[in-house]
Amino acid sequence: MFEAPDSPYLVPFDGSFDVSRASTRAQTDGHSHKGKYRREAIKKLSTLQQVLAAGDRHAVLLVFQAMDAAGKDSTIRSVMRGIDPSGCQVFSFKKPSSLELDHDFLWRTTCRLPERGRIGIFNRSQYEEVLVVRVHPKILEYQQLPDEIDLTTVFDERLTSIRQQEEHLARNGTVILKFWLNVSKAEQKKRFLARLDDPAKNWKFEPGDVAERRHWDDYMAAYEAALNGTSRPWAPWYAIPADDKPYMQARVAEIIIDALQSIGLRYPEPSAGDRVEFAESRAELCADD
Ligand code: ATP
Ligand code: MG
Repeated sequence: MFEAPDSPYLVPFDGSFDVSRASTRAQTDGHSHKGKYRREAIKKLSTLQQVLAAGDRHAVLLVFQAMDAAGKDSTIRSVMRGIDPSGCQVFSFKKPSSLELDHDFLWRTTCRLPERGRIGIFNRSQYEEVLVVRVHPKILEYQQLPDEIDLTTVFDERLTSIRQQEEHLARNGTVILKFWLNVSKAEQKKRFLARLDDPAKNWKFEPGDVAERRHWDDYMAAYEAALNGTSRPWAPWYAIPADDKPYMQARVAEIIIDALQSIGLRYPEPSAGDRVEFAESRAELCADD
């Protein structure tokens, strides 16, 4: 089974992750994140994706979660640069529809899992069910749950369901990497104000995002519980500092590259039968004018 690439931002598997100690700022650790480094990362990812598609054995699932304005969209764009669009699919999960609410909470994301050979990206995910719903438990009332809801256990039960599903997927060939883009409250304020001030960014501003910001501490507590409950060697979380976007994007790209390099992707070997067919095809093509 796939093993989590090491990184200073890897969330430990023993439940000791402390959100208040997670850095939101770029570290001066000598890592480059511009120019040549960036171009090389794009090239590596592009080659790895080709072999992933040709091998058709593993699927790759990248989950992105963050507070508003942390840069999910731009990170997804930056990671996908250079990747064949037909080998990749991006899904953004918003408030569930009535059809989605008619199913269990893992249904809508399960339907959109990537198939073998492809990279699937979740912009928000099943984790919203233990993040926004935990912060606003009133949402549970609309979820048509069969039993009396016990707020003291429901979120731990959901984390168990998510963890078990991820273990199952990993055993069956899905490489799962989860990124929490960790933006500071001060940087979020700066970005919201820029959205208000810059006419080209006005369209991104949502008053509802400012309302969610009031619940910052509750969100941080929910993230801490979610990451501690589900960061495991086969489905690790990375808490990536998000105040410096190029730095964040470079760290995300290098973790994906490390993961894909570690699983021994290779082009499929032609079988003995394939070789016979190749020889016949070659002979026919050469005889042809
Ligand atoms: P952007 O603002 O960049 O378009 P976004 O991901 O913030 O991207 P929005 O449409 O603004 O998209 O927000 C989606 C909203 O849907 C978020 O507030 C999120 O918490 C909410 N959401 C997602 N999944 C669920 C869920 N399962 N239950 C309730 N709310 C959810
Ligand atoms: Mg939004």
